[in-house]
Amino acid sequence: MHGRPEKAQTSVRLVRGARARATRSHALPLTVTMAVIPVFVAALFTHATGSGAALIGPWDPPSPGSGGPSAKGTSSAPPATSVVPVPSSSPIATTSRLPACRYADEPAAHAAYDDWQRTIVDTTSRLPKGYVPPDLVPVSRASLSGGGSIRRVAIADLRALAVAARKAGVRLAVESAYRSEARQRRTFAGWVRTSGEAEARRFSARAGHSEHQLGTAIDFKAAGGGSPWTRAFARSRHARWLAANAWRFGWIQSYPSGAEANTCYGGEAWHYRYVGRDVATEVNASGLTLRAWLWLHASAD
Ligand SMILES: [Zn+2]
Repeated sequence: MHGRPEKAQTSVRLVRGARARATRSHALPLTVTMAVIPVFVAALFTHATGSGAALIGPWDPPSPGSGGPSAKGTSSAPPATSVVPVPSSSPIATTSRLPACRYADEPAAHAAYDDWQRTIVDTTSRLPKGYVPPDLVPVSRASLSGGGSIRRVAIADLRALAVAARKAGVRLAVESAYRSEARQRRTFAGWVRTSGEAEARRFSARAGHSEHQLGTAIDFKAAGGGSPWTRAFARSRHARWLAANAWRFGWIQSYPSGAEANTCYGGEAWHYRYVGRDVATEVNASGLTLRAWLWLHASAD
């Protein structure tokens, strides 16, 4: 099921290239095209008005035009200049354990509640039916504005992250946190109605496949600001601060821009998953995306 090691190696090179670019320029690379933005805005509006609900993180938010699952969208591939050489001594060969992007409903590895740091949730792996984290608490306990809940285990480091950001002049808030499987199903269905299933899958997780259901994922935004799925947020100091510092507090950006073939989703400058400081430090040092790291370290049990 893992197949195509050549593909995996290419993906990792692209990720490393993207990170190197971000480090140099302190700006996240964007491949959003102006042609797609009106479509996205229209879909957003239709969905919001159609559901009658407040539009608060109804999906794993879209990053229109920035690629998506699988390598089918050749137009979304990063330019060749983003590819950096990888030394032959690099342990990249081991990333052949990273499956190519596809859609399935296979049981997620390490899906026990206590295995939250290692649980693999992607377009292939889904959480078990009835998966509801047992220790959800309001994110307000982390002294952050915005609603929602996350697992208690993440609160202390979320608060530490918020405090550090504030000291740096970056005031963060929570756009979206835990989402139930039922809510994810409704919102994905809404996107299918407005955009068609193929397009919806490029930017939205199917029910059971969202990291938000883990209770350890947060979509951040600027305090007092609007929804973060915009070019403006991706370029903001909030996004830049998070990209540079969140890992120090145990939070990893799950879907960095330019890594679509690796993460199976377009770039999401706002979406972070808590994996604890030790794992986050390892992930950051590895240069891998979180998905690649998790697959690399997944055991067979
Ligand atoms: Zn998210």
